[in-house]
Amino acid sequence: MLGIVPFLGILKRLREGGSNPPCGAGVNAIAILPNGEIRACPIAYDAEWALLGKLGRTDYSEMRHRMLGCGIAGECLGCTHLRGCGGRCLYMNRERYWGEAGFKKICEVTKHTIDAISNVKDEACDIMKNLGMSYQVLDYPKFNNSTEIVP
Ligand code: SF4
Ligand code: SF4
Repeated sequence: MLGIVPFLGILKRLREGGSNPPCGAGVNAIAILPNGEIRACPIAYDAEWALLGKLGRTDYSEMRHRMLGCGIAGECLGCTHLRGCGGRCLYMNRERYWGEAGFKKICEVTKHTIDAISNVKDEACDIMKNLGMSYQVLDYPKFNNSTEIVP
C-alpha cells in the first residue's frame, strides 16, 4: 500500500472516522512554542483562538477546557463531507486567508476528491481483505505528529 496523501488519510477517515481537524490540532495534538506557550496549532503562533495556556502556569483541566473552544467552526460542522474531510485544517478554518470564495473553491476540490475515494472505498477494502492486509496500513501518519492530511 503506497502512502499517497491525501488518498490514504481520506480512505482511513471514510472507513473509521477521525478527529476534526484530521491533523488533530487542538483535539489530540498540541504545540509547545519555545516561549512555553501551549497552542492548538504550531502555525497559529500569534492567534488568540489557538492559545491554550502556558507551561508551568496552566493546569491540564484548564487547557482541556480551552481546547473545547478552539475547534473547527462554521459551515464545516453541517457539511455532508465532514466525515471524510474533517474541516481540512484548523488554521485555514479559523483564519480564512483565501476569503470565502477561495474557501469554497478548495471545498469543491476536496468534495470531488472525497467522492472519488468514496466510490472505490469498498473495492479497496475488499482487495485489502482478500490480500490479508491489515487495515493498519491505512494509518497515516503512523503516529500523531499533527501533519496535514486533507490539504
Ligand atoms: S468540504 Fe469544506 S465545508 Fe465541508 S468539511 Fe471540508 S472544509 Fe468544511
Ligand atoms: S494542518 Fe497544520 S496548520 Fe493546519 S491545523 Fe493542523 S497543524 Fe495547524
